[in-house]
Amino acid sequence: MIYLDNAATTKMYKEAIEAEIDVAENFYANSSSIHSFGMESENLIKETKKIFAKVINAKENEIYFTKGASESNNIVISSFASLENMAITTSIEHSSVFDAFNNYKYKKVIYLKNDKYGFIDLEDLKNKLNDNIKLVSIIYVNNEIGTIQDIEKISKIIKDYDENICLHIDATQALGKIDCNVAKLSCDIMSFSAHKFHGPKGVGGLYISNKFIAKIKPIIYGGRQQVISSGTDNHQAIYAAGVAIKKQTVDKEYAYIQKLNSYLREKINSHISDSYIISPENDSSPYILDVAFKNIKAEVLVHYLEDSEIYVSSGSACSKGEDNRILRAIDLDKAYIDGAIRFSFSSYISFEDLDKTADVLKSGIEMIREFM
Ligand code: PMP
Repeated sequence: MIYLDNAATTKMYKEAIEAEIDVAENFYANSSSIHSFGMESENLIKETKKIFAKVINAKENEIYFTKGASESNNIVISSFASLENMAITTSIEHSSVFDAFNNYKYKKVIYLKNDKYGFIDLEDLKNKLNDNIKLVSIIYVNNEIGTIQDIEKISKIIKDYDENICLHIDATQALGKIDCNVAKLSCDIMSFSAHKFHGPKGVGGLYISNKFIAKIKPIIYGGRQQVISSGTDNHQAIYAAGVAIKKQTVDKEYAYIQKLNSYLREKINSHISDSYIISPENDSSPYILDVAFKNIKAEVLVHYLEDSEIYVSSGSACSKGEDNRILRAIDLDKAYIDGAIRFSFSSYISFEDLDKTADVLKSGIEMIREFM
């Protein structure tokens, strides 16, 4: 099997699976219980907060766990929603941001212009700031095309205008892969999700700088476990998330992933006619390579590859069934728009896997073009 759909989700690290099982078997008390067994569970959460705080250069009390990045994003966007407040975002956000802005009531939500690679227009950001803006929410690494936004520059523009405007970044495709030092990025809030870095599904989190915590409200009420996300903590999954982030950051696989990305890029460019690499060559996450093929239906190609046990995505898994909002936002040529495939890498992939993928891809495209 060749699994090239790691932006949708990753295989859990063995160490993370073992850690989760160990906690579930041996430290299963409710982390809110006041007895000593419960406190052991609570301590595992505290330990995990320390790990995340170290990875992103924050304080332990600025780390909050949620049920995933969709919840994290919704918490942030709902917290600032009011008929007096405005927000700025982009047209290329993940649906958990895009749809949240469509459902929580703001006075106005302003969308920034972007270029054909998805880089947002910083002049446009400067021009669109006004005194009603309370939140700017920007995707750090785009989940579909890999584009990395210059968060430091974005933050400077915002903070020069008004340091009380909150900058939230969706770092779901960034954490564990590229630098997420929040002090350097100068963001106020950051969302993340464990299943994107070989941790368990259903657990994610938020970095919320102490300056902004008073503005944040939960979307689920009832538990007193945490300020922002109620319900009994899934502390075994939280603990496993800590094991995973520690391993992915220690592993330093970035250079290898970069080589994989360039290798497949080169193979596609030189072997497959009428292909267009959407992911920018610079300032792009090497973990994601989005490519469009002329006169191809991506779904048909996904199923063709699947017959050889090669797994990729057509667009992002979260935009299943929708026409592709992100590819429209970067103004992709109509002849290519239905034929975009996202390859997303992990260190489990080898160069031989990519040789096979390129061969099957070539024969699939030739066959589909001949018969469709
Ligand atoms: N934001 C981005 C950029 C993502 O890629 C994803 C997952 N596809 C999410 C948010 C949602 O994450 P989760 O699955 O943890 O809800």
